[in-house]
Amino acid sequence: MVAEQIERRGIRNPAVLEAMRVAPRHVFVPEALQDEAYADKALPIGCGQTISQPYIVALMSELLGPDPEATVLEIGTGSGYQTAVLARLFKEVYTVERLPELAARAEAAFDNLRLRNIHTRVGDGYRGWPQKAPFERIILTAAPPEIPQALVDQLAPGGRLVGPAGADPDAQRLVIIDRNLAGDVNRIESYPVRFVPMVPTRSY
Ligand code: SAH
Repeated sequence: MVAEQIERRGIRNPAVLEAMRVAPRHVFVPEALQDEAYADKALPIGCGQTISQPYIVALMSELLGPDPEATVLEIGTGSGYQTAVLARLFKEVYTVERLPELAARAEAAFDNLRLRNIHTRVGDGYRGWPQKAPFERIILTAAPPEIPQALVDQLAPGGRLVGPAGADPDAQRLVIIDRNLAGDVNRIESYPVRFVPMVPTRSY
């Protein structure tokens, strides 16, 4: 998987390649799809959600910029596969998932793999995790129409956010937001991508 799908497409960061070699993707894929666990595609994980394609997980990890001293916030735990990759690239990983069933399954997998630097919470990703902010890195694995300001506000100076955005599922782009040490924010749009939508906040 790493040689054919990831290195061949240009991912070079040694820490990312190592993390992708070590993270057992089959643990995060449903029983019925085990034969396809290392295939070059996204797969359904139940609740209408998907585990991202391996290449996209590697690409976003490389774009984030691995740093063993940095703390990262992930929105959209899903299967927990991207989270498990991040756990080997960053000091602490805080991950938010809106569906309790998926969060519970992912947490069980983190326990089995002894990944002790992952902190999982059921909640609304549009709000981030203000009690633990600021974060040196933020990653979204579900697509909002535009990157929520609440998340940008939780990005530390010198930090980077990577995530898909776009109201139309056929026209999402990967967005990269950098905050410099003076606090100013720079936003660029890169690759076209296709993620499940980030479900809007309900009013309670
Ligand atoms: N990185 C995951 C991808 C999961 S798909 C993996 O590789 O398995 C995106 C996830 O985002 C889904 O589990 C979905 O339930 C979650 N999600 C959607 N909207 C959300 C929101 N507003 N807050 C938190 N999580 C959300």
